[in-house]
Amino acid sequence: MSRQITSVVGGSTVTGGDAHADLNPSDLSDVVLEYGGVDASAAKAALEAAAAAFPLWSRTTPWERSTVLDKAGSEVLARADELGDLLAREEGKTLPEAKGEVVRAGQILKYFAGAALQPHGHLLDSVRPGVEVSVTREPIGVVSVITPWNFPIAIPAWKIAPALAYGNSVVFKPAELVPGSAWELVDILNRAGLPAGALNLVLGRGSVVGPVLTTDPLVNGVTFTGSVGTGRGILDADAPLGRKVQLELGGKNPLVIVDDADLATAVEVLVQGGFGSTGQRCTASSFAVVTDAIHDRLVAAVQERLSRWTVGDARAAGIEMGPVVDPSQLAQDLRYLDVARSEGGEVHGGEVLELGTAGHYLSPALVLGTKSSDTINREEVFGPVVSVIRVADYDEALATANASTMNLSAGVVTTDLATATHFRRSSKAGMVMVNLPTAGVDFHVPFGGRGDSSHGPREQGFAAIDFFTTSKTAYTAPGSPRN
Ligand code: NAD
Repeated sequence: MSRQITSVVGGSTVTGGDAHADLNPSDLSDVVLEYGGVDASAAKAALEAAAAAFPLWSRTTPWERSTVLDKAGSEVLARADELGDLLAREEGKTLPEAKGEVVRAGQILKYFAGAALQPHGHLLDSVRPGVEVSVTREPIGVVSVITPWNFPIAIPAWKIAPALAYGNSVVFKPAELVPGSAWELVDILNRAGLPAGALNLVLGRGSVVGPVLTTDPLVNGVTFTGSVGTGRGILDADAPLGRKVQLELGGKNPLVIVDDADLATAVEVLVQGGFGSTGQRCTASSFAVVTDAIHDRLVAAVQERLSRWTVGDARAAGIEMGPVVDPSQLAQDLRYLDVARSEGGEVHGGEVLELGTAGHYLSPALVLGTKSSDTINREEVFGPVVSVIRVADYDEALATANASTMNLSAGVVTTDLATATHFRRSSKAGMVMVNLPTAGVDFHVPFGGRGDSSHGPREQGFAAIDFFTTSKTAYTAPGSPRN
């Protein structure tokens, strides 16, 4: 029998619910663990537990909150090999990628342990004589944290850590495909000293528990990362309720490669940005916009690099790309390749691979000869697929890059500082990379997109406080009695 995990509400486990198996996408005969998907009443109970814990947790000192986060961060870092193995096993990214993500989660917990101690607030003179004005930050209350499957521990950490650091209580609903990493993170934080109910875990179907966690009157804020469709649904449902909503959604991220680019840099930036983590990153370089004179040399060099690209079991040594996460994502990848063919694209790779174990293996796909208006250049594929658009010059490349409506990240590869600077200033994306893959971001600076890719304040680093606190401006009359 495989390992069993459960939801955690008010510090207690919740048994029962629909049976779910967490399968290893590298080897479908391997059941990583099993859990019961809870119903709407358990989601409601989790919100009640968070609401009950809020007065206590929000009144803890910054030092107490910092200590819990710091201790949890230390445990995550100390167990990076074991947690990385679990993550690779349930999500399918390679072991180095998975361990790197776990380390990132530990760093995020440490960062917000420090952030909890940072002073924030102002004391000012009013424009009225003798009146004193204070501007303070207060937690927003009960926060629902809803996350996707592609970063099973880092995204939960970058939402839960600031929520707790600034005194909020949390109900966390991870994606159904990756409950193991979520459970470990919650267990580590609870054992690090959180009071019961400050952090609750709801394992259940998004369509069942999601509406409760986003629209119940006990919810004061929703922070969501996932697809544009689900995110827009949450926004529409919450709009009449007027509560804080933060959405990080899909990306359609261009990588511009101009004639003066260093060829070796361009190849590595494209291949790592496009195919790293099996292309299953919101920041993946999903279309390359390449100027005329370098196009053929670049395509030949990328194809040569991809001919040596190793696909296999995520936990096997030397593997560069693990499997696609599940059958529906694989079907989506193949469907987009078919559409690209039907619109005139020339697909290289993108073949389903039969390897030693039954897994969802797909070879990396390069789609040549595409136009900006093609579906493959407009919609998020979320797989190991990079399309290429050939353009005359930099001006056309910039316009083509900016035609994306999911402006999360954009990159340029160039040896010319003027081009790099112009692109950085002119890109419509929320994040710009110069001679770096569009994916790969730091935890201490703001993260987020523009256009259809994002809604609400930025996440991470020094920007996180904007969503997880609300400002209060207080005026005190001169000579107010004190006793
Ligand atoms: P998804 O939208 O299908 O699911 C995300 C989460 O929402 C899951 O936990 C799911 O159970 C839950 N959910 C489903 N229905 C719900 C409902 N009605 N109410 C509330 N919650 C509900 O996304 P996914 O397939 O898990 O993740 C892939 C998507 O996430 C891609 O589009 C990717 O670009 C995006 N993503 C964005 C970022 C970013 O920071 N911009 C980062 C990672 C992933």
